[in-house]
Amino acid sequence: MKVRTRFAPSPTGSPHIGNIRTAVFDYLFAMHEGGDFILRVEDTDRTRYVESSLGDMMKGLRWMGLDWTEGPDVGGDYGPYFQSERLEIYHKYAQQLIDEGKAYYCFCSKERLEEMRALQVAAKTPPGYDRKCRDLIPEEVAEKLKENPHPVIRFKMKREGVTEFEDVVRGKITFQNDIQDDFIAIKADGFPTYHFASIVDDHLMKITHVIRGSEWIASTPKHLQLYEAFGWEPPIWVHPELILDEKGKKLSKRSDTVTAFMSYIDAGYLPEAMLNFMATMGWSSGEDKKLFSKEELIEKFTLEGIVNHPAIFDLPKLNDLNGEYIRMKTSEELMVLIMPYMQKAGYVSENPSEEELKKLLEVTKLIHDRIVTLSEAPMLTEFFYKNDLEYEEKGLKRFKKDFWKEMMTHVKENLEACDDWTYTPLETAIKSTLDQMDIKVGDLMATTRMCITGRTWGPGLYECMEVIGKEECINRINRAMELY
Ligand code: GLU
Repeated sequence: MKVRTRFAPSPTGSPHIGNIRTAVFDYLFAMHEGGDFILRVEDTDRTRYVESSLGDMMKGLRWMGLDWTEGPDVGGDYGPYFQSERLEIYHKYAQQLIDEGKAYYCFCSKERLEEMRALQVAAKTPPGYDRKCRDLIPEEVAEKLKENPHPVIRFKMKREGVTEFEDVVRGKITFQNDIQDDFIAIKADGFPTYHFASIVDDHLMKITHVIRGSEWIASTPKHLQLYEAFGWEPPIWVHPELILDEKGKKLSKRSDTVTAFMSYIDAGYLPEAMLNFMATMGWSSGEDKKLFSKEELIEKFTLEGIVNHPAIFDLPKLNDLNGEYIRMKTSEELMVLIMPYMQKAGYVSENPSEEELKKLLEVTKLIHDRIVTLSEAPMLTEFFYKNDLEYEEKGLKRFKKDFWKEMMTHVKENLEACDDWTYTPLETAIKSTLDQMDIKVGDLMATTRMCITGRTWGPGLYECMEVIGKEECINRINRAMELY
């Protein structure tokens, strides 16, 4: 039996970290088993449809290298892969259930259902449909169909006993049937509900393992009873645990943690770091190992490795991983990666000249061991591109010492006399100030850095000065002395 998994997003909003983590597990497991990974679009809720959602979802998956073997764009033998294009299929199977007495038309009006719900709330009884239409006789149904030819179709859930299943992550889960609801399979607009469509599709698309968010556990009895009603073999169920934010709360739009997946792309995380991070959020290979390439993840990913406790979205870990992957790049590669951010900041033109590229490469080398996300590049390199520095508040104390102007006048003169604007001569020139005045080397270096970069921190000062150039370095010392 070939393993077939599916990622089945509803295009109702921007992809969420939790959704994408599910997709990562689906993908890695399918690839580990030499199986298929299917992308199916569950676009049956027309009221919640968001145009940009699917595009973002597809972009996000492809960015991380999660290429689906079947689905939108690539096709496959089990399409269409958009549920909105499969309505006839759902109607056929719903009709089969009606014919077999396993589903029924429900003619209850919205008003009646609302009234029923209000009474249930008041009486504090479990919510759910009161099954009024469940046992209508055929004549009544025929009569009502004349008035309302498009009623909803409800599935007859069992009323006695229990429904149980074995979850790969959580073990055996048991549900009492008497509290289950006769859920809607086909809505009044002719579209199926999630429960119905996903089961019909999982069966027809020969899905072997359903790896999905834990919010669907409570719906599994509905799904299992549908399988039973059709006489189909259910898949293997895998419901990974939740992802929690750093405060230990369920990851949600209200968390401080950014949940929108696309934000991480925009912030300049590398796809390989993100994949590594997402795969190890709730899965473990059992080794004490941090870095996993995509190939290693595919090789090692098993369902047994999915942990049975909630995972934490650990941003410092993601940053750390991203830094590690950035450090593995060559400076030439990193330059290409930061280019769009530098162009957006206006530091590099759209069609950069040779000279611009040369400078960008030098600058890239200087931030290579410090940068965490690509989007930080403009902030880290600002002083290479903007001559009118904004001085870091913390460093202004350098301009308050009574000897600073005298000291910087010496530095300036020494630099003016320096003909070879490279590391060692620059060091010699600046440090010769120590022979001219009784000052501490720390004061000398920190004040020169403040004058030339406007900051108390950054790459090596002499390297920075090489890139900034003689004329501009001297201008910057003059400017600081004029301003303070
Ligand atoms: N369309 C559902 C969702 O977006 C899919 C759940 C499932 O994987 O079955 O959450």
